[in-house]
Amino acid sequence: MTPVAALLARRIAANGPITVADYMAEALGHPVHGYYRSRDPLGAAGDFTTAPEISQMFGELIGLWAAVVWQQMGSPGPVRLVELGPGRGTLMADFLRAARLVPGFRESIRLHLVETSRPLRERQKQALAASGVAVDWHDDIASVPDGPIILVANEFFDALPIRQLQRLPGGWHERLVDLDEAGTGFRFVVSPGLSTGAALLDPGVRETAPAGAIAEICPAGLAISAAIGARLKAEGGASLLIDYGTARSAPGDSFQALKAHRFHDPLTDPGTADLTAHVDFQALSRAAVEAGAVAQGPVEQGTFLTALGIEARAETLRQSGAADVDAALRRLIDAREMGSLFKILALTGPTLDGPLPGFGG
Ligand code: SAH
Repeated sequence: MTPVAALLARRIAANGPITVADYMAEALGHPVHGYYRSRDPLGAAGDFTTAPEISQMFGELIGLWAAVVWQQMGSPGPVRLVELGPGRGTLMADFLRAARLVPGFRESIRLHLVETSRPLRERQKQALAASGVAVDWHDDIASVPDGPIILVANEFFDALPIRQLQRLPGGWHERLVDLDEAGTGFRFVVSPGLSTGAALLDPGVRETAPAGAIAEICPAGLAISAAIGARLKAEGGASLLIDYGTARSAPGDSFQALKAHRFHDPLTDPGTADLTAHVDFQALSRAAVEAGAVAQGPVEQGTFLTALGIEARAETLRQSGAADVDAALRRLIDAREMGSLFKILALTGPTLDGPLPGFGG
């Protein structure tokens, strides 16, 4: 058994089955053995690859997006630039290089990285050393000081723990993780009583899902989106939430594990594989709007990057002799690759008028 499996097995033996969210939180976030706490999961030697790791174009275009939005905000100085879950720091390094193109923007930036992984904080420090921008790290967005913000999160929300509910004839029950018959592995079971989580389901999903359907809620994601919304209302600014998922809430089981770039059983060897779930953008958007923000989108990643001029950027890179530009471009924007599954939701403060770049602006 992995160390996380042994801990979970003891906990379940003592107290009974646990929610999928508790399972996921321990497997990813255990302070010593958790997946994200103990390793750098990205890249060819890791378990998965993300858009900023595919091409510098991704972070550069987001940096230019932010520079234009900063001007739309009235060019505030200082502005808090916040990234949730910065991984290897690649997006931010590309962002800050591109941000030089707009006079005054880079000088106004106070950079705050929200990252719980110590190994990844170290990678971020190295990646950003050449940028000359000072970095403040936080475990949680709550400790980022007041002031207008520009916030970016790429593949952050998909790593937050989800709960799964299953609709049975009498109502919604909680899907739980229990020990298997032998007591050495894990299996799914369903709670005998009804789940309190049903209150957090989208009303349409709650009422119309067929019997047997599984639906997911992400309480941590909703809380963070609401916190972003409250901040945008109070201090102004804009956020870009990028992830794979659905534009509208819908039933479905999207809980999955990736190990060495292949699908893996999420209940096998917890702590050694990345666990994720699709992001429900409608739910995230509603949480932020209820807290006072204004939502634009979500739009598909391919549409967004094309609107921001990724084709022209690719052409410039091609002419400068960069390798593999076409393959990277296709992976980022092609509908059969990341272009359609990945979505981008923008949130703004109520005083930021008009459509943002990539959202019709
Ligand atoms: N944005 C990066 C990395 C995505 S992986 C990229 O696109 O390449 C998810 C990131 O979120 C990692 O940096 C991970 O350590 C961080 N993370 C996961 N859960 C977190 C949490 N609860 N709080 C803060 N950071 C978290």
